[in-house]
Amino acid sequence: MSQPQYNKHLVIFDFDDTIIDGNSDAEVNSMHPRPIPDEITQIGITHNGSIDFKVALFASLQQLGVTIDQIKDKVINLPFVPGMKELLDYLHSLEDLELIILSGANTLFVRWYLDAMGINGVSQILSNFAEVKDGRLVVRCHHNQTWCHMCSKNLCKGRLLENLIQERTKSGVSHLSVLYFGDGKNDFCPTLKLSEHDVVFPRHDFPLHKLIMQNSSDVKAKLFSWKSGFEVIEIFKKKLFIHWA
Ligand SMILES: [Mg+2]
Ligand SMILES: [Zn+2]
Repeated sequence: MSQPQYNKHLVIFDFDDTIIDGNSDAEVNSMHPRPIPDEITQIGITHNGSIDFKVALFASLQQLGVTIDQIKDKVINLPFVPGMKELLDYLHSLEDLELIILSGANTLFVRWYLDAMGINGVSQILSNFAEVKDGRLVVRCHHNQTWCHMCSKNLCKGRLLENLIQERTKSGVSHLSVLYFGDGKNDFCPTLKLSEHDVVFPRHDFPLHKLIMQNSSDVKAKLFSWKSGFEVIEIFKKKLFIHWA
């Protein structure tokens, strides 16, 4: 068994309502003329938790003449949660730290946003797969899971976090701590995978924070809730919770 060669902090960020103040899928959905056709709404109801509704809605938008550039414009014009750009830039300036986005949106929306905002240093975007193919936006589920009732069918964030830690450990990186930032119900599954060496940073008063408060005995990680990225920068500067190598 190979020994870990060096230590690193793994910093995971959710995207919607954590980095951006809003939900990218909902914003793009809002571009669709109302009412949304029944056959698409039905997909949302009968395929609960699958990615099929998004796929159908994006396809319908494009059939109606909405272009990729218009969709991209919508996404990249969403505002940051206050202080989040500053926090991401600050974290990028630190050593021994890896930044990863773990999102239920899709890889393309996240990549568009990071590039447009000049956010560097994100080593990986784990999300549903998306690309522009023959001028169309094509989205595919990350996986089709049946093992986790806390996450959506198309993406179990807890499993992705476990896989990521395993991959890094195999490649010789030993993570001293995982620092997890999120807001939503689907961030609770990965929160339960965190150890007492890790820290969960739920957005204050958002669903993840409430779930943690209601189930605090199930959560091993340290907890710091935040309203803006600026508060988190102060916490990092004081090195609270974090035992820097
Ligand atoms: Mg979110
Ligand atoms: Zn899960």
